[in-house]
Amino acid sequence: MPFQLSQAAQNISPSFTLALNAKANALKAEGRPIINLTIGEPDFDTPVHIKAAAIKAIQDGKTKYTPIDGIPSLKTAIIEKFERDNRLSYQKNQILVSCGGKQAIYNCCRTILNPGDEVIIPAPYWVSYPEIVKLTGAVPVIIPTTIEQHYKITPEQLVNAISSKTKLLIINSPSNPSGMVYTEQELKKLAEILLSRPNIFIMADDMYESIVWNHTPFNNMLMVCPELTDRTIITHGVSKTYAMTGWRIGYAAGPAPIIQAMANIQSQSTANPCSISQHAAEAALRDDQICVREMVAAFKARHDVLIPLLKAIPGIRVIPSDGTFYTFPDFSTIISSHGFKDDLDLAAFLLENAEVAVVPGSAFGLKGALRFSFATHQENLLTAANRLCDVLR
Ligand code: GLU
Repeated sequence: MPFQLSQAAQNISPSFTLALNAKANALKAEGRPIINLTIGEPDFDTPVHIKAAAIKAIQDGKTKYTPIDGIPSLKTAIIEKFERDNRLSYQKNQILVSCGGKQAIYNCCRTILNPGDEVIIPAPYWVSYPEIVKLTGAVPVIIPTTIEQHYKITPEQLVNAISSKTKLLIINSPSNPSGMVYTEQELKKLAEILLSRPNIFIMADDMYESIVWNHTPFNNMLMVCPELTDRTIITHGVSKTYAMTGWRIGYAAGPAPIIQAMANIQSQSTANPCSISQHAAEAALRDDQICVREMVAAFKARHDVLIPLLKAIPGIRVIPSDGTFYTFPDFSTIISSHGFKDDLDLAAFLLENAEVAVVPGSAFGLKGALRFSFATHQENLLTAANRLCDVLR
């Protein structure tokens, strides 16, 4: 029987980062010496004490349904994290535990957005924001930025992007893919604009909060402007901070009615996140944070190796990252001088000829750049840079 996919299914693209990672891994499995710098995933193993908490949870029979919005003890650990790190106070009914940060973001968009609403997304953006927005029938309104402005939007750009239909602003700092962090002052200026627009919600995706070495201590929109409490949702998770990508635990904090509605959506889609992972996440958030400091130090060391190597290649423009494990150099000079069609063409060329896999900037809404994930050991970074140098000579 001939059939047509739903409009939503027709409109959505697969996650570019996950697809490219799968492609690079498939080539590796065929025996090609690919250096895979596509995926944003810590290469460290999940710390032993976190695994031990999961094993204990299994042995203790914590293998059944949990409350949809998360076990109370994990919610308490999340509340304590917000108090400790962000000076923000939440009650349990303001916290939702989800299957990864992505589901928290999805639930949030589903809860707030109606078809035709506009969502402001600064570019470069994480690949999934516009796609999730489109799934709700809302319309992504992209604000492009440049390397000169450190890939951060200005207050003027925000004002110009706002219309009577604007419902949500998504802000991600530290940013995937740019590695940039908004300073306290920059956030305050954006917050001032939002204060006079009471119909706009703010989603602060703080997934990379802990992986930061510049502009510390960390700030988000709510920390600099508590008056936005009624319309700000923070999304977060343990994946990047604790090398727990496969455990699928994210969380959201926000106004109770929104969190309740997000939990309702979750109850009708996936129900509770994995019970065992929730116990592991609780251990991650509660126990000593030394493992985080060690991983961040390693990411910073790798960053310090990679950035000068890229800078030394003629035509590449790169600025140091403030955090995360990404850098987003501009290759537009190389693209035009070497006759590449665009960044997609260049990324395909690098995969084929240098056997280095990176993600084209187009995937993040900004042509002409490439995203490098340096969540891999230094030797790989050295080899990748050398190969780039050779093929781009
Ligand atoms: N967030 C990571 C990345 O950007 C993981 C992949 C994904 O979920 O998109 O590479």
